[in-house]
Amino acid sequence: MSSADYSVVMTSEVAAVLRRHLLQHIRKGEPQEDLCFALWKPSTGETRTTAVLKEVVLPVANERRLHGGASFLPNYLDRVAEAAMSRNAGIALLHSHFTPGWQGMSGEDVDTERSTAPSILGETGLPLIGLTMGTDGALSARFWPRVGRREYERRWCGSVRVVGDDFDVTFMEELAPTPKFKEMLKRTYSAWGEEKQHTLARLHCGVVGVGSVGAIVAESLARMGVETISLIDFDTVEEHNLDRLLHASVDDIGRFKTDVAGEQLRKHATADDADVRLNRKSVTRESGLRAALDCDVLFSCVDRPWPRQVLNMVAFAHHIPVVDGGVHVRVKPDGSIRGAEWGAHVAIPGRACLECLGQFDPANVTLERQGLLDDPTYIERLPEDHALRRNENVFGFALSASGMMICQFLSMVVRPAGIGNPGVQTYHFATGMMDSDVSSTCTAECLYCEHMGTGDRFPFPVVEADETNVEPRVDGVPWWAKWRRSVRNWLWFWGRAGSDAGRGSG
Ligand SMILES: [Zn+2]
Ligand SMILES: [Zn+2]
Repeated sequence: MSSADYSVVMTSEVAAVLRRHLLQHIRKGEPQEDLCFALWKPSTGETRTTAVLKEVVLPVANERRLHGGASFLPNYLDRVAEAAMSRNAGIALLHSHFTPGWQGMSGEDVDTERSTAPSILGETGLPLIGLTMGTDGALSARFWPRVGRREYERRWCGSVRVVGDDFDVTFMEELAPTPKFKEMLKRTYSAWGEEKQHTLARLHCGVVGVGSVGAIVAESLARMGVETISLIDFDTVEEHNLDRLLHASVDDIGRFKTDVAGEQLRKHATADDADVRLNRKSVTRESGLRAALDCDVLFSCVDRPWPRQVLNMVAFAHHIPVVDGGVHVRVKPDGSIRGAEWGAHVAIPGRACLECLGQFDPANVTLERQGLLDDPTYIERLPEDHALRRNENVFGFALSASGMMICQFLSMVVRPAGIGNPGVQTYHFATGMMDSDVSSTCTAECLYCEHMGTGDRFPFPVVEADETNVEPRVDGVPWWAKWRRSVRNWLWFWGRAGSDAGRGSG
């Protein structure tokens, strides 16, 4: 497997532990670096490999030497290797420097990491990752994969991301150069300043579901100068989409939604050489998931429970913030409107997950995986007001929901008045009131919290292999496929029940 790009991601909590330890002497004004090890799990996208830094293993007495610089003793590495093997994780070596911002390496740094790389690959099966922290907490990072017999090569990471309460990204200038100011973006720059715009522009944003909401979200990103946008959707334009699908016209019926939107985004993008990637895939398939794992932020613009579940897993296991939103119209039996709600929120460790927020029901995921949601006779048997039957939507509602999603994203990146989390927002069309809930959290039984930061090693199969039909249908699915699917679902729920019981008794 060859990956062109590398990145590291961690939660605000992990970053805080690292800063406290690595900068402890420097903050007291002492000319003393420090070091420590951490454990990580791989997160493999289509073109990018990310290390999800999960757990810091701080040194105890007689495990390191401090001499202005810092060096670890063999017993420290032995203890860390044991921890890594028992947790099925890789090892990262971190140290601090005396200047702020992204950090390069001294000759000694290179020698230490290069000579440590072989034993770490041998013990964990994963390459060593080296990170260096500047005095302001900024981090640089590199992977040390084996490229030949006894040959290890340094591969710099384009970015190191901190997510959760914070959203901080340190970019490597060489791999992710600062965008140049453009007259076209003058008003955007003046809204939040150069620094925030330079972060925003370099975030790889993924839009999952390019329907009424997704198309508007994607358009907003392109206009705001975002350089890399991935569109992920396997669906094609149908006649009944035309009342609310931003970029589509009658001529586009039958074309992929990604292609229709992508064509326009390339024209409207304000970034130089905007990279709009089209993935005619479902995020519930292996390849669709991999496309999503290349992104720094994802927008969940899907209307089905299964892709929401996949994105929820991505937010918690792979630490990619998922901005989720949707529209919910309530109609009276006589056909008049009772009300409508739309809203937006971000799923990421530290905030509530989509399952705990009630944004999808795992029971409905099972129905969808069995293909029942594509079975008209099954849908017809559901009560008139069942959530799975309703698909009313209007361009104006989608516009408002997309706006709320974009503002959730901007809050996280730009932090107006220092606030990065405006809470779970719900707008009520009838009363014109907006609820904003900053206190919602996951339940104690939350599976996604339990397996936070596990990356590719999240223990449940939430996606299926690519070779299965993109749209699973009950008819035409061979018996063995149905059987395999039901066994998987059974295992999934058994896993859930097992972990719940474990916690209850413990
Ligand atoms: Zn150094
Ligand atoms: Zn949860």
